[in-house]
Amino acid sequence: MDAATVTCATCRTKNQVPFVATEAPRCTQCQGFLPWITQAVDADYPAIADSSTVVVCVELWAAWAQPSRLVGPLLERVVAERAGRMKLVKVNVEDARRTQSKHEARLIPTLLLLWQGEEIGRHTGALQLPQLRRWVDQGIATAFRPAKTSS
Ligand SMILES: [Zn+2]
Repeated sequence: MDAATVTCATCRTKNQVPFVATEAPRCTQCQGFLPWITQAVDADYPAIADSSTVVVCVELWAAWAQPSRLVGPLLERVVAERAGRMKLVKVNVEDARRTQSKHEARLIPTLLLLWQGEEIGRHTGALQLPQLRRWVDQGIATAFRPAKTSS
């Protein structure tokens, strides 16, 4: 299965971060959370986007879509800031037509937030960094909101 080499920002240890895992990745040396930035195509998308422990942000992008080139690096930064709580799944729609149509993403880029398989947020087009942070944090707050008690 695919993995990315990620250097820990705290202790500079190089780690292998798997694209598919049940828990958010941690540094083997200092145990700090690592940015979880993955890529998927149609064949491996269901496995990579499936996560029960973190919010999944799906970035449906294309090289020809100018806003994709702007929002992509910002999104990686926002997800890295929220290591341990988020996973980014970058999907080039040229390699993932089925995934694009499954999510009915006609405009590129489309950003989705998924929590336990349910869509909890959607944005199309570019965003500035502060708006992107706010949008992501609203999604995380929705996902981790404590269940209402009836008593
Ligand atoms: Zn470390």
